[in-house]
Amino acid sequence: MDCIFDKIIAGEIPSDKVYEDGEVIAIKDINPSALVHILIIPKKHIESVNHMDEADSALIGKLIYTASNIAKKKGLSSKGYRLVFNIGEDAGMVVNHIHLHLLGGQKLGAMV
Ligand code: 5GP
Repeated sequence: MDCIFDKIIAGEIPSDKVYEDGEVIAIKDINPSALVHILIIPKKHIESVNHMDEADSALIGKLIYTASNIAKKKGLSSKGYRLVFNIGEDAGMVVNHIHLHLLGGQKLGAMV
């Protein structure tokens, strides 16, 4: 499978890992848009939110829970942070494997 995140999960491509368990991995974004920019990625290859089944709901919820734990560890919980799923072309999605962006560590700009 030609997916950069699958290769990162398999350890074929290096990454700056901040969390890993049996279901998810969290890595620093290679091209950060904020002082803190972390990607939380399910190990299961699901192309996008559009491709989720109902059975994936708990796994995708776990991405949010994992992000909140990382935010807590990084001291972002009280000041705030942003969680973003890009879906498809108009949102600028470039890697076709669901991932949750955690952005923070600074005052964030407008959404669009
Ligand atoms: P998207 O626009 O698809 O929601 O975001 C994909 C993100 O993955 C981008 O922010 C991009 O910088 C990041 N990215 C792409 N390739 C790599 C990589 O090889 N390693 C890491 N750590 N991040 C990557």
